[in-house]
Amino acid sequence: MTSDKKAILLIIDGLGDLPTPKTPLQTAKKPNLDKLAKDGITGLMSTIGRGIVPGSDTGHLQLLGYEPREYYHGRGPLEALGAGIALRNGDIAFRANFATAKGNNIVDRRAGRLETTIAKRLESVLNFEIEDVQCIFKSTVEHRGVLVLRGKGLSANISETDPHKNDHILESKPLDDSKEAKKTAAVVNAFTRSARDHLHVHEDNRKREKTGKPEANAVLLRGAGAYVKVPTITERFGITATCVAGGALYKGVAKYIGMSVLNVDGATGTADTNLKEKGKATVNALRGNDLVFLHVKGCDSFGHDGDFNGKTKMIERIDAELIPIIAKSGANLIITGDHSTPCIIKGHSGHEVPILIHGNERADEVKTFDEQSCMGGGLGHINGKDIMPIILNLIGKAKKYGS
Ligand code: ZN
Ligand code: ZN
Repeated sequence: MTSDKKAILLIIDGLGDLPTPKTPLQTAKKPNLDKLAKDGITGLMSTIGRGIVPGSDTGHLQLLGYEPREYYHGRGPLEALGAGIALRNGDIAFRANFATAKGNNIVDRRAGRLETTIAKRLESVLNFEIEDVQCIFKSTVEHRGVLVLRGKGLSANISETDPHKNDHILESKPLDDSKEAKKTAAVVNAFTRSARDHLHVHEDNRKREKTGKPEANAVLLRGAGAYVKVPTITERFGITATCVAGGALYKGVAKYIGMSVLNVDGATGTADTNLKEKGKATVNALRGNDLVFLHVKGCDSFGHDGDFNGKTKMIERIDAELIPIIAKSGANLIITGDHSTPCIIKGHSGHEVPILIHGNERADEVKTFDEQSCMGGGLGHINGKDIMPIILNLIGKAKKYGS
C-alpha cells in the first residue's frame, strides 16, 4: 500500500473555541497532535466564509467539496439517507421527533427521551399512504427519526409542525402559491393527525400510560428538504472515498455525495464512541480508497452544553486513542473541525478553526495544535473550499489547470 497517495480527513466536530483565558485545545494534553503539528503545516480555516456560522450539514458539504449554496437542499434528506432510506429524486424528507402531546399541546418534545427499542416498535404504525403519497417513517436514536414523503407533485416549501418548545403542534402551511406546496402541507397535516391516532392505540403507549411514562403519541416534523441526486465524489474529483462516522447526518452527507459508508462497532456519534475501532476501520479502509472521511462528534456536543472540561477531555481522548492509530498509517492527514462551538457561546460560531496537514507537505515553525499557535502557521488563512484541492494535490490526483 502506498499510503502517501492516500488521505485521511479527520473532522473533529465543533473543535474551535474561544479563550477563557485558554481554549480546550490549549488546555488539553495532546502530545500526538502536537507532534503532527510540529512535523506538518498548520493554519486557520473559515469553513464557509469569514464570519459565517456553519451548520454541521453545510460545513461538511463545503469541506467535502460540495458548495452548500449549490448542493444544500435542507437537512431532512441528509438525515434520511443517513438513516438508511434510499431516496429518489423528488422525495421530501424531514427530521422527526416523537413527542408527548395532551390535546394539541406538546408537554414533552422528546417523549421522555424515548428508548430506541420502543421507537423502533412504534415505527411500524407510521408507514402508510395518504392518497397517492407514501409516508416512509424510520426511527433512528432515542426520540429521533425521519419521515419521507414519496409521490408526484410534492414541494419542500412548507412550514414545519415542530414548535421547538413546549407549545401547540403547528399546522403546516404552504410557503408559496404552488399546488405542490399546498398538496404537501395538506399531506403533512394528514400525516400528523393519523400518526396521533395510530400511536395513541399502540400497545407500547398503553403500557407507558399505565406505568406513568410519557406517551410517544405525536410526531413533530422539521428540516424539510427535497432530495436531488448530485454527481458523486468519484465523478467530480476522480477519487474513491469512504466515511467512518457514528451520527446519521454525517453518514447521510457521505451517501449524498456517493461515498461508501462503513458501519463500525461502537461508533455511536456521541462522546462515548469507540475511537480505537474507528481508527482501525479508517486505516483498513485506506486499502480500497483514496480518501477516508473520519468524523468525531463529542467536542461539538460538549461545546453546546458549555462543558469546557468535557471538551478538553474529549480532545485528550482523541489524542491518546485515535491519533496514534491514524498517524501510523503513513497516509496524508488533514485534521480540522467543521466550525467552532465555543463553550461560552454554547452554540456554533463563525470563528476560524485550526487546521493541520501532515504528509506530503512542507513543515512550518508551529509546534502545538491550537487556535493561537495555528495563527502563525504556514497555511495562513484558508477557506473550506480549499480542502478538496489540497487533498487532491497531496495524493497526486490534482489535474493541471492550463497546459
Ligand atoms: Zn458540526
Ligand atoms: Zn453543533
